[in-house]
Amino acid sequence: MQTLTTEALLEAVRQWVLIESPTQDVAAVNRMADHAEALLVAAGARIERTPGAMGYADILIGRIAGETEGPGILLLGHMDTVHPVGTLAGDLPWRIKGDRAYGPGIYDMKGGNSIAMSALQHLAATGRRPRMPVSVMFIPDEEVGSPSSRSRIEDEARRHAIVLVAEPSGDGGRLTVGRHGIARYYLKTTGKPAHAGAYHAKGRSAIREMAHQILTVEAMTDYDRTITLNVGTMSGGTHENMVPIHAEACVYVLVPTREAEAEVREKLLALTARDPDVKLDVTLGLFRPPYVKTAAIQKLYDHAAGLARELGFDVAGERIAGGGSDGNFTGALGVPTLDGLGVIGDGPHTHYEHLLISCLVPRTQLYVRLFETLTPALVEA
Ligand SMILES: [Zn+2]
Repeated sequence: MQTLTTEALLEAVRQWVLIESPTQDVAAVNRMADHAEALLVAAGARIERTPGAMGYADILIGRIAGETEGPGILLLGHMDTVHPVGTLAGDLPWRIKGDRAYGPGIYDMKGGNSIAMSALQHLAATGRRPRMPVSVMFIPDEEVGSPSSRSRIEDEARRHAIVLVAEPSGDGGRLTVGRHGIARYYLKTTGKPAHAGAYHAKGRSAIREMAHQILTVEAMTDYDRTITLNVGTMSGGTHENMVPIHAEACVYVLVPTREAEAEVREKLLALTARDPDVKLDVTLGLFRPPYVKTAAIQKLYDHAAGLARELGFDVAGERIAGGGSDGNFTGALGVPTLDGLGVIGDGPHTHYEHLLISCLVPRTQLYVRLFETLTPALVEA
């Protein structure tokens, strides 16, 4: 890619979108990895591809030399989407309508992956190099919490000076300087079964107990402190004429700080059953720690916003995002992390997911300038 034109950048995005890659479909995500690998090779990268583990696809890393040596930039992107194979031929076909381009995963986050790669290919094609070395890391399982890649992401982050994340930007292009911590808790109640007719009084309903617990848990939500507890799934019972013996629910928790996380964790793990004859178990599942803005992250943001102004556009401010990303892991380790460097658009995880075509050229140029100007000194205390 010699020139950064809208047509060329949009075609590059289309190539990503046409390969559907739901997290659970290992072969599909590996086809996406094959494509990403070819792009990395074209950008002059040395490839390290690690076979998938835990039922997920491969982890792909491409290392690109910089003008200087030493710890460089880690660029994070995920290759997986939440859309099953067939979405492209069904509910969400590739299509252009005005300034919008639609497709599965186009906003979260194939558009961001694509423009970051186009920027690196542009540097290579014009005989230039990033100032610092760049490691591009493509993850196969972010949409389910990165279970197979978390430790690898953390290892890589510790070896780099700066982390950039190509996740979608916020309203109007805002960059992400922090993210809430996210935890999943599993609630399980075990009651006593009985026939729902003559023996109803002998039973102890696991569902009734769970209903009480759900109200208790949801009441812990505190919008003023941006603490949210959402019971997102629940199930229970085996037959309508039985007092249910089992019920299960999953609570999705968002917290702004480590302190708030500890406070909520303590409350949830201390929950007890109202009915002494029903057993309640609470377990913590996948957890992304909060990523909180630091002075170094402020400097990164200010630098990026300044570059955008030189290029003639405004990044529209900074935001603390409610949703999680792999930036949570690197930010929580204290590695300066700037997220939300992907495309502008809307509708992640929906059938109206789209990006704004007009953002492609400026946002790719921003990547080019970031790669050309970022230095370790910028984020030093
Ligand atoms: Zn994402």
